[in-house]
Amino acid sequence: MTLLLSIDANGVRISGEAEARPAPPRPVPANDGHGDVRKKIVPIVRPPAGPSQAEWEGGAWLSLQQWLDAPHAGAGVLLQPADDTHALKDRLADLAIIGVDFPRIGDGRGYSHAFLLRQRLGYSGPLRAVGAVTADQVFALEQIGFDSFALRADQAAEPTLAALHTYSVPYLTAFRDRDAAVFDAKVRLLEKALTAIAQRHERPALATSLSAEDMVLTDAIARLKLPIDVFTLDTGRLHAETLALIGETEQRYGLTIVRQQPAPSEVAAYVAAHGVDGFYKGLAERKLCCSVRKVLPLDRALEGRDAWLTGQRREQATTRAALAESERDAERNMQKYNPLADWSWADVLAYAARFSIPMSPLYARGYVSIGCEPCTKAIRPGEDPRAGRWWWESQDSKECGLHTKPTTTGQ
Ligand code: SF4
Repeated sequence: MTLLLSIDANGVRISGEAEARPAPPRPVPANDGHGDVRKKIVPIVRPPAGPSQAEWEGGAWLSLQQWLDAPHAGAGVLLQPADDTHALKDRLADLAIIGVDFPRIGDGRGYSHAFLLRQRLGYSGPLRAVGAVTADQVFALEQIGFDSFALRADQAAEPTLAALHTYSVPYLTAFRDRDAAVFDAKVRLLEKALTAIAQRHERPALATSLSAEDMVLTDAIARLKLPIDVFTLDTGRLHAETLALIGETEQRYGLTIVRQQPAPSEVAAYVAAHGVDGFYKGLAERKLCCSVRKVLPLDRALEGRDAWLTGQRREQATTRAALAESERDAERNMQKYNPLADWSWADVLAYAARFSIPMSPLYARGYVSIGCEPCTKAIRPGEDPRAGRWWWESQDSKECGLHTKPTTTGQ
């Protein structure tokens, strides 16, 4: 039996039973193993384990294909991430319930199914999130149109219930009411800007950190089949989730993401002088690490190129408030483009839902800005998006040197 949370006009109702389970493990800090108690602030929300629910109250879930092969009234269909939601068009009235399976945490395609069903196909029946649904996701899932959540047997209802009542992420609330026409125009402008960059330059490249913003740009470049290369700075300190997403992205889009790594001799010299985690000692040590692992590799990745692109947005940080969409990277003697400069986080989420882009599972655990593992942590709702980066430093020092070289606006 699994736990079911249902939302209706009378509030949230819990039904079902949880399995007897051992005491929950101690919460693991985001930076566990890195030694400094100042950084042990936000616990990770662990994804639930085990298979997704196989049944709903009316019987076994049918796969989309099973139902299309033998459609009948009163059935419950469980959509998988790769299913084509449009196949249900004009047949929604026959279904008693639609479930959306989240086989793994952070897969944005479940959100896309809900968006299409509610906003495009006009589905108003029961919509249930099934599978790897965590307490910190239910608020966003409810915002997009889910009205019940089938928790896995090893989960507790209380944290999820508390999240529904109290969790508040302002950048997600905009999703419900956003103006679709304005968003469509923004996507068209992005496509136009990327096409122009590809036509204007001979060897442009996107520097991706696998953030949601960079996934938007990667998706648009791949959809439009633009001759823009994609590379990432594989610092040697990335999250395992980020490394996994590199492969997933390559597979999804059929492209190669070049892994630009730091010079082993420079890393060895830094470690010998400051220790492998020397960046915690002070700003100079941190900037030196970023220089060795990021800035110098970036310089090498951009050698011989005439333009580069980033996913930076103005609202990400005070240091980015005046970010231009196009600027001259004078030191590297090339043009630099920030095509998402005026995008909001809600725009990024809307794009992710519209095009079902792969997203880092770290977002579902409270990470908003994602960098190297020891220098990034989850943030609390309402905190500045960059608060999780180098949190032991002041706000105005929070750049790694990739984007601080002298530039002038142009082109
Ligand atoms: S983010 Fe941290 S680990 Fe990564 S390069 Fe900078 S200081 Fe080093």
